[in-house]
Amino acid sequence: MRETTRLLDRIEPDTPPSRRYSRLLRSSLLELRDPNDGQDPDPATKTRHQYARAGGVLWSRRLPPESVGDEWLDGPARWERVDLGHASELLRAFAREGPEFSLAVLRRQRFYVAADDEYCVRGVYVDATDELAIDLPYGPVTDAWWDVPLPQCPDCGGDVVWWEAGYVPGTRRCVGAPLRRGEYLPDRGCGSMFVVASQETER
Ligand SMILES: [Zn+2]
Repeated sequence: MRETTRLLDRIEPDTPPSRRYSRLLRSSLLELRDPNDGQDPDPATKTRHQYARAGGVLWSRRLPPESVGDEWLDGPARWERVDLGHASELLRAFAREGPEFSLAVLRRQRFYVAADDEYCVRGVYVDATDELAIDLPYGPVTDAWWDVPLPQCPDCGGDVVWWEAGYVPGTRRCVGAPLRRGEYLPDRGCGSMFVVASQETER
């Protein structure tokens, strides 16, 4: 990552990487802290923007200051794709040079009923050939694949949660909006069923 490293050295010369606002973590995640966030100059008090490559594209997530933790009050930080059209020279260099993580993907859960393949879409079992398959990438697997925050339900925008009791491992279900953080009523949401997978990047 020659160009990325060169640009980082240029942004904060004479500063050891541990005291920098912008640095590489585990040599594969780029982290930029917002120096204008708050009065305290300590990097641990600054909002963090992290960048990682997966599936041939660059992703970003915004995390609270290190002193607060890795989650926002309303939940974990989801990954979003970065539009490189307006990106800085540093982000464009990292998008070219950064190592690829595998990609977390949300798909419709397949059910085998008699001889047929079915999907559960908005709570209704439909023949899989009658419904569009979904292959929704939602972020790089920078730690464990089950830790990548799930995307919103592609059918209704609700929250998708783990739903393995009575179903095959990996099953996820749309449960709509939470009552409070992390608390759902099981009959809320549209009821679409999904599985999550980790997909290696094709080289
Ligand atoms: Zn839904």
